[in-house]
This record gives sequence, C-alpha cells and structure tokens, in this order.
Amino acid sequence: MENQKPSNFRSLSSKFSIFTGVLLMWVVLVNTLWDIRRHTFDAMKGAVLCAIVVLTAGLISRFTMRVMARPLEMLQYAMTAVRQGKFERIQISTTGDEIEYLGETFNRMIDELQKSHQEIREHRELLEERIRQRTDELERAKNSALAASQAKSEFLANMSHELRTPMNGMLGMLDVVMDSKLDTDQREQLEIAQRCAYSLLALLNDILDLSKIEAGKMMIEQVPFTIRTVLEDCVKSSSAPAAQKGISIHCEFEDEIPGELVGDPLRVRQIVANLLSNAIKFTDRGKVHLSLSLESPVADGERRFMRIAIRDTGMGIEPAKLSLIFEKFTQADNSITRKYGGTGLGLAITKRLVDMQGGRVLVDSEVGKGSTFTVLLPCVPTDSAAKEETQQAVPALAPHAEPGAARLLLVEDNLVNQKVVVAMLRKKGYAIDIANDGREALTKLDARPNHYQIVLMDVQMPVMDGIEATRTIRKNAVWERLPIIAMTAHAMNGDQERCMQAGMNSYISKPVQPAHLIATIEKHLAVNAA
Ligand code: ADP
Repeated sequence: MENQKPSNFRSLSSKFSIFTGVLLMWVVLVNTLWDIRRHTFDAMKGAVLCAIVVLTAGLISRFTMRVMARPLEMLQYAMTAVRQGKFERIQISTTGDEIEYLGETFNRMIDELQKSHQEIREHRELLEERIRQRTDELERAKNSALAASQAKSEFLANMSHELRTPMNGMLGMLDVVMDSKLDTDQREQLEIAQRCAYSLLALLNDILDLSKIEAGKMMIEQVPFTIRTVLEDCVKSSSAPAAQKGISIHCEFEDEIPGELVGDPLRVRQIVANLLSNAIKFTDRGKVHLSLSLESPVADGERRFMRIAIRDTGMGIEPAKLSLIFEKFTQADNSITRKYGGTGLGLAITKRLVDMQGGRVLVDSEVGKGSTFTVLLPCVPTDSAAKEETQQAVPALAPHAEPGAARLLLVEDNLVNQKVVVAMLRKKGYAIDIANDGREALTKLDARPNHYQIVLMDVQMPVMDGIEATRTIRKNAVWERLPIIAMTAHAMNGDQERCMQAGMNSYISKPVQPAHLIATIEKHLAVNAA
C-alpha cells in the first residue's frame, strides 16, 4: 500500500515560514502603531519593513526546506522502500544536527536489516537443500523397499511353484496308490502319509496366503455363487474329523437367504472352513453349530450383510487373549497348542480376508463353555434374470457322457506331474497324449486338428509357456471351442485372470485333486457334446 499523505498535511517549511512571517509582522505592526502614536509614521519605512518581513519569511522557508523537509522526505521514501523489501541506504546531509543523526541511525538500521535478511536467505537455502536431500533419500528408500517387495513377491511366486510341484507329485501319487489293492496296514500307513502331506500343504497355503495378502496381491472376486452350497461343502469336508472326535455338526440356514449372491466363494469357503476346523479342533465333546442369516439391508440400496456364526462347546478362550488370537503366529495357549497343533496363522488370514471384503469378524467366548465366531460379510443378491441365463448357459453334468472315448492332450514339462495326471486319469480310460511344452502341443494339434477334445495346459513351461500356446491356439478358428484347462502350481494372484484372458476355459490349481480334475474334464466334454 502506497503511503498516503494525511488530508490536513502541511509541510514543515511552510509552517515555519508562516510562523516567522506572523512574528515579524507583529513586530512591524507594533513599531508602526508606535510611530503613529508619536506622529512619526513614515509610509515608505512601513513598506520597506513589510518587504523585509516577506523576504525573511521566504528565506526561512527555503532554509528549513533544505535542512529539514528534504531529508525527512528522503527518509520517508526510504522507509516505503523498506516496506517493499528494498533495503537502500539514504544520502545523509552533513548538517551535524539531529537530522544527520537520524539519517545515520536509519542507514545503520538498513545495514542490520540487510545482514539479517541475508542470514535468513542463507538459512532458507540451507533448509531447502536439506529437504531436497531428505526427499531424495526417502525416494531412494521407497524405491529400494518397492524393489524388495517386488523381489519378495517374485520369490513367493517362484516358491509357490517350486513347493507345489513336488507336493502335487506326492499327493497325486498317494491318491493313485491308495486307489489300488492294499492290505490294511499299508492303507493305514499311506493314510498317515497322506494326512501329513495335506497338513504340510495347508501350512504352505497359509504362509503363501498371508504373504500374498501382505504384499497386496490377494484379489477378492465378485462372482455369483450359492452360499448354501459353499457352507454345505465346508460342513461335508469337516464331518470326517468331527466324527472322529464324536462331535456333531448342526446347520441352520435362514429361509430368506437368496439362492445366489455375489461375492468371492473361494474366500468365503476358506474363512468358514478355517473357523469350522478350529471349532472342531478345540472342542473335545459336544457339538458345533453353524448358522447363516441375513442382516437387514443397509440404507444405500441392495448391499446386505450375511451373518455366518460358528458356535462350539469347546474349551473357550480367556478374555485377555481374545484380541490377540487374530494376530499372526499367535495362539491363546502354548500348552494347548502343543496338544492340538497349528501355527497361529488361520485366524490372522481369516480376519484379513474378511476385512478385505469389507466385513467384520467377532468372537464371543467363555472358558470351559465354548466360543462363537461370527463373520459379517457384505453380499449382493444376483439378478434373478441373470441367474436363469447362467443356468441355461452351463448345462448340468451329463451323466451319460462317455469319457472313456475322450482324447486328451496333456501339455506339461514336469515328468512327475505327467505321470501323476496320467495315473489319475487312467481309470477313466481317456486316451492321453503328452506334449512337453507349448510348441510341441501346437505341433501335435496341427498334425491332427480335430482329434483332441480337451487340452490340459500347464502354465510355466520352457520353450513356449501355456499362456502363449493358448493365445496361438485361439487364433485358429478350428480350435475356437476346444476346451483348455489350465493346471498350474503358480498359485499367485492374477494367475487365474491371465489364464482366462489368454482364452483358457477353466483353472485348476495344483496339487490337483483327482475328483476335481475329472469333474472339470467331464463338464467340458458334456458341454461340447450338447
Ligand atoms: P491355529 O489354530 O493354527 O493355532 P488360529 O489363528 O486359527 O491358529 O487360532 C489362534 C488361536 O486361537 C488358537 O491357537 C487357539 O488358541 C485360539 N482359538 C481359535 N479358535 C478357537 C476355538 N474355536 N476355541 C478355542 N480357542 C480357539
């Protein structure tokens, strides 16, 4: 803001000259009156005195202008400049009085201001430099953390593949041997081996799942599914261990549950299976109760919550431990764990999976009486029209399909896996041809374009991988409808999507369950036969 002069501003010099003029005029007036009284008044003398008064006032005005008003005006300009950030010294008139002293003081103040301004500037530059350095360091740290996390994800993906491949061989071969003629002892020994292998697999899956979640690689699907079927499947798979302990499992499903909901059936299955397995594991007698009900819809439309509650009559959990059990590697009681086994990963995974789906998991427990784990999951009922379409599009398994005659091409580089799959499918009587990689598969398909009815495709292979091979197959109109089933030990997220995007029809994760593999093959044979 520019410095405005006050409205009644009058310069010092004019004030001083008026004052001197009035004073001298008064002297002249007194002198003139005196002369008139003594009858000695001389008009000429009066005029000369008046002229002298005016001249003197003018001279005084000039003098005060030079000595006082100018330096003060310069000072005022310099002060305005300071306000605008310009530190300029002023020219001092060497009058040897207060005016000169004021000018010098002002110049000293300007010097001080310049110095401190310079210090502030240097300090700011130093700070900016430090911030720049710190930002660079953080950027480098972030990049190396990202690289480490990427390396961890890749390591996991590879480990997942490397660990599942031999597991696949082991479990597959155990299945095949157990299907043959064995005496009681041999069967028992093999069953123990199978149980051990399955617990090893479960542990492996837990560790990989937790790492996937922590690396942000776990994706939650949104597909239509029948919640009752998922829960019934979980109960079915838990019924054997429950029966062994003499525990009964009761189910109660609310009638108004819609047939189909949209959500992630795989993850819901994992959550419920884990809670059921804990309920059975930590209950020595009594029963386990599974209930499913729907919560009232929330205000913003269709979104509803389903409530899955698993109640047991087991040992219960101490109140102090309730908040800890959802931490990874944490168990409520170490001595109990020694008795029951376990890693302390199940509930950590369960909680994270529920959180990722926008749900909540609650626990209510009383030592000696039992525990209730409640899972609240958001779910959306599917459109009934869409449901009908789906039902028409996928015909039910044709019980009369003749799989014995089916011709399969197995594309798999690993010798053990080749043997496992062939052994699993042998009893169905399929004619199986083997290709060791994608390129060999293409050669075999080219040689007999309409021969194979199904391709079982591994994903990670040398020469040409399963994804590329599938893309090439799909480019040829002859094989537009040829079912390709992905079989991969590469269980990291996004894998299934990559397979489906490349044009595969189904996805089976290794270790392959014989029943699941056969059911998938038969489903595709039935669709193509229809
Ligand atoms: P794990 O079962 O492998 O030990 P979890 O994460 O599934 O790991 O469970 C953590 C701990 O919570 C268990 O070790 C156990 O002490 C306690 N817990 C879980 N479910 C129950 C239950 N239904 N009854 C009693 N204790 C339970």
